[in-house]
Amino acid sequence: MDNTLYLKRKTMNSSTGSPTDMVSVPDETGRFGKFGGCYVPETLVDALHQLESAYHEAINDSQFQQQLDELLTRFVGRPSPLYYARRLSQKCGGAQIWFKREDLNHTGAHKINNTLGQALLTMRMGKSRIIAETGAGQHGVATATACAHFGIPCVVYMGAEDVRRQQPNVRNMKLMGAEVRPVETGSRTLRDAINEAMRDWMASVADTHYIIGSVVGPHPFPQIVRDFQSVIGREAIEQSQTDFGRLPDTVVACVGGGSNAAGMFYPFVGHTDVELVGVEAGGLGNTAGAHAASLSYGEPGVLHGSFSYVLQDEDGQTLPVHSASAGLDYPGVGPEHAFWKDTQRVRYVSCDDHAALDTFQIVAETEGILPALESSHAVSAAMKIAAEKSADDIVLVCLSGRGDKDAAEVARLIDEMKRNSH
Ligand SMILES: *Cc1c(COP(=O)(O)O)cnc(C)c1O
Repeated sequence: MDNTLYLKRKTMNSSTGSPTDMVSVPDETGRFGKFGGCYVPETLVDALHQLESAYHEAINDSQFQQQLDELLTRFVGRPSPLYYARRLSQKCGGAQIWFKREDLNHTGAHKINNTLGQALLTMRMGKSRIIAETGAGQHGVATATACAHFGIPCVVYMGAEDVRRQQPNVRNMKLMGAEVRPVETGSRTLRDAINEAMRDWMASVADTHYIIGSVVGPHPFPQIVRDFQSVIGREAIEQSQTDFGRLPDTVVACVGGGSNAAGMFYPFVGHTDVELVGVEAGGLGNTAGAHAASLSYGEPGVLHGSFSYVLQDEDGQTLPVHSASAGLDYPGVGPEHAFWKDTQRVRYVSCDDHAALDTFQIVAETEGILPALESSHAVSAAMKIAAEKSADDIVLVCLSGRGDKDAAEVARLIDEMKRNSH
């Protein structure tokens, strides 16, 4: 399909119909309603302005569009198919469940859509070094992949605890020439890795670009990442028309920082008859520290340069988080999701570890697909929604990634649960 001019907001509105205020965000200060903005030390302000103007120049340059389109087609393998999960739908006994197969992308998830776009921007800005943070290692791998493709030196910050838990991704990053720097501060997980990447960036900003991995961080990151990921939703709209002659009734995606959900939802936002559902990590239950559901249980606050919902205590200190899926294990969420929650354009629910693990197994057995544990959260919610609908209804789920990385951990957790129940 024609990816040209994909990223131009004007073009997008006219092609998806019914433009609304929900579509023309953020404003020029990076606000989505009252959320978003740019809360950064002075040393980073110039770099963020430079990034913003490079981005606007790029999306108005047909050569940039062509280059990105070419990469998405020949390197990533886009468009990713829309797939009817027939046996899973039968099992639920309600609506048809369809998957948008981001798991089939090169590197196995949606993250590569963003890292290739931002790597191109890095070169346009004349910068020669890329840094990134990673939690589960998926964004780290996608960044290392883009850097290897272009021959750009790459440093990935990763919490020491995550380095231990995600060895295959650490190995793959190193094989592609990236340097992985374990972060020993704080909880030694994703939020500490972001802190450390920000610290590096403050000292290296003249020659270094920081590729953030989700729709979080200061303006213009939430907008740039959403726009690069929106290829998911735009393809889905076109494929829906081809495959079932109309738009789906409901679209579901999991929400960690919120990038696969934002990319899936954004092109649908103006289509107000399509119900949008975001699924957060319910972890082990709704007590503080046991989950990572920032929109469901958080309060507005500033984290990593942006105003959004944050899991925090009474003093505004960020709370610990938990999820069986490392990719959803983040105490904040992209500001556009906060905006969609408050304007009620998107409904946010959560799915706990147990349901996500069950769903992983069900999807494996009924469809022959190992979904990422993150994506299993979305499928679990979609199954509940589908069960209450009729066979004419269509529920479309973003299958954000493949589950090979989780298979060993899932098997271990299932054994553990079986043992505990005896
Ligand atoms: C990283 C990741 C997520 C969560 O990140 P978002 O920014 O919320 O999309 C979800 N699914 C997969 C497969 C991931 O790798």
